[in-house]
Amino acid sequence: MENLYDLPANRLAEKLKSKTLKPSHVVEKIIQRIKELNGRINSFVFIDEPQALKAAKAADGSDLKGDLSGIPIAVKDNICVKGQDTTCSSRILKGFRPPYDATVIKKIRENGLILVGKTNMDEFAFGSSCETSCYGPTKNPWDPDRIPGGSSGGSAAAVASGQIVMAIGSDTGGSIRQPAAMCGVVGMKPTYGLVSRYGLIAFASSLDQIGPITKDVTDAAALLGVIAGHDEMDSTSADIETPDYRKSLVNDVKGLKIGIPKEYFIEGIEPDVLKAVKEAIELLKKMGAQIKEISLPHTEYAVSTYYIIAPAEASSNLARFDGVQYGFRAPHPKDIIDMYTKTRSQGFGEEAKRRILLGTYVLSSGYYEAYYLKALKVRTKIRVDFTRAFKEVDCIVTPTSPTTAFKIGERIDDPLSMYLSDIFTIPANLAGIPAISIPCGFDGKGLPIGLQIIADAFKEENIFTAAYAYEQNTDWHSKRPGI
Ligand code: GLN
Repeated sequence: MENLYDLPANRLAEKLKSKTLKPSHVVEKIIQRIKELNGRINSFVFIDEPQALKAAKAADGSDLKGDLSGIPIAVKDNICVKGQDTTCSSRILKGFRPPYDATVIKKIRENGLILVGKTNMDEFAFGSSCETSCYGPTKNPWDPDRIPGGSSGGSAAAVASGQIVMAIGSDTGGSIRQPAAMCGVVGMKPTYGLVSRYGLIAFASSLDQIGPITKDVTDAAALLGVIAGHDEMDSTSADIETPDYRKSLVNDVKGLKIGIPKEYFIEGIEPDVLKAVKEAIELLKKMGAQIKEISLPHTEYAVSTYYIIAPAEASSNLARFDGVQYGFRAPHPKDIIDMYTKTRSQGFGEEAKRRILLGTYVLSSGYYEAYYLKALKVRTKIRVDFTRAFKEVDCIVTPTSPTTAFKIGERIDDPLSMYLSDIFTIPANLAGIPAISIPCGFDGKGLPIGLQIIADAFKEENIFTAAYAYEQNTDWHSKRPGI
């Protein structure tokens, strides 16, 4: 007997449509699973059981309209849900309940999905391990001594352990793809501007994108279809027609041109990761894809460029958290300056403070040209690398992360080694292009490995075709942690 919580949304949706299952039964089972596991995994920071059950009961008696109607979903804690705690897993936002829904939440509700709760994350999405949350770290369901990846670690761990059917994450430099890789699930960062950022609490506005974390590629395509589309509430939202991504789910890569960038196969990649990725490339070739070595010459500057631009934007975005309007305010201040100082000193964690200092420094007069402006120029060069590459190939395949999940505590005191976790995911954010991570194997310790597929802006369909075809010819995505 298969466990209901192990099924992807597309399988559950069939059962819901044929009425072999009721939404309330699915939601009850999911909540039961959360209660069983969340103490150990810590992937959820809030669960709205009464609302979820109420919505499910209402769905029981109604016609299920959308493909994902009646499916339980979890949302990263940096996305505004009206009336529900939204804290970015930071002490400074404790008690903040937004008066409005983010656009993605609105779309999720309109499509009949059932919101179950908020998932844990690195504070303000700063991190690659989910350890900087004020609620404590999320654990990797494949090995609870290890990190689930970050910053959307709560979403990835919840999907991997069957505590939710599908989830929403955000990705500024890899925060959807890297935890998806480390938890053995599918995670996609769409093209910048494809999904509205309205109601996403900003980290770095020119890099942030919201995207799906799911059990398979079919679910990722369906959920992206729900959340994508133009939104006048986000001035960076692209005014384009979004296709039906499910039409790209064809098991055929014949003639698809896949680029393998030599700069992504460097020293420092764990041998098991390298082996799994090479085998995946071999398989794609056997399936009829044309494999071509390419070069993205500015790759080596991506991490340093990102760690100027992202903190610069973050320092500006986080200036609004001063104890006046949102969440936490330090008690007993002497005067207003003291109130700001104490609130920010007590409210932000160490990594958030590091980013604010770094960002303020690179934007300060005298350093702005040397750091920030320079970084913007390098960013353009990185974008141009991709533009050139996509004249020759339809997509690019790389590892998602150089390593599998590391031990909790291993990198937390060494920010530079933490920052290097995103060496393969950051370039897509700097270029504004879409990328997915899909499961492609396990290392010798039984930990999942992710394969990254990147495409040109608004060419999500190429990603889905390659990812789906690969998935159809392997069974990595159907493995579940024995938890
Ligand atoms: N790990 C990267 C960082 O710490 C990316 C985080 C993200 O994508 N939100 O900034």
